[in-house]
Amino acid sequence: MSHITYLDSHCHLFDEAFESDFEGVIARANEKGVTLLNIMCTSWSEAEKAMAYARQDREHIKVSCGIFPTDVNELSEADKAEFYRVMKDPECTCIGEIGLDYYWEKDEAMRAKRRELFIEQIALANELQKPICVHSRDAMQDTFDIMKEHRTHGLMHSFSGSAEMGREFIRLGYYLSLGGPVTFKNARHAREVVASMDLNYLLSETDSPYMAPEPVRGTRNEPSNIPYIVAKMAECRNMETEAIAAQIESNWHRFLELK
Ligand SMILES: [Zn+2]
Repeated sequence: MSHITYLDSHCHLFDEAFESDFEGVIARANEKGVTLLNIMCTSWSEAEKAMAYARQDREHIKVSCGIFPTDVNELSEADKAEFYRVMKDPECTCIGEIGLDYYWEKDEAMRAKRRELFIEQIALANELQKPICVHSRDAMQDTFDIMKEHRTHGLMHSFSGSAEMGREFIRLGYYLSLGGPVTFKNARHAREVVASMDLNYLLSETDSPYMAPEPVRGTRNEPSNIPYIVAKMAECRNMETEAIAAQIESNWHRFLELK
């Protein structure tokens, strides 16, 4: 058993990738001390399973649900109502992942529709007083502009922006969550962000089953890989892993208190 407590602020534990060995995934995470989990759900049915699971240990296990930006095209009104019902459930701690993704979407009208849905979900989060978990891909400036205009409490998941942009987000009170890319050779930005940001606003995540860190890059990711990421973050800051993990843990509790 690890004596360090680690946070995974972003894992898709109810993704079908984990269906066959869910218990093993949890056992390996516990073994490594990765006990603070935020389970991300991109469908309301997934969220219902996650909320039932989280009831066993509300203190450590949190659930997030939100309409993923690329899902806006196929979203029916009935689906949206189900999503909003789950998002209002007290067992759902965070609204996410929500945000903007322009990578495959070149059509300006469709992009506008995504912005509209993002703003709508921020408004709901504010009404419910829940933090948001934000996905932003090829849309950093628009994401920032919206989060500046529509102020809320939240984190940037797998933050991939520059250190300068990172500071702007932190200035508005947002947190930056870092994952596997911190360990990738070509991800200079991520390491610069870790090295230079206010330590009070950094969080750790895997984005399991995606984005496995070195030295297990390319495999199915799972929460038990968090120590690789946090060790790299510690190296960037010239700190002990234990010290940065403790800081991340306290950041997480503060984040959940909307502070
Ligand atoms: Zn995700």
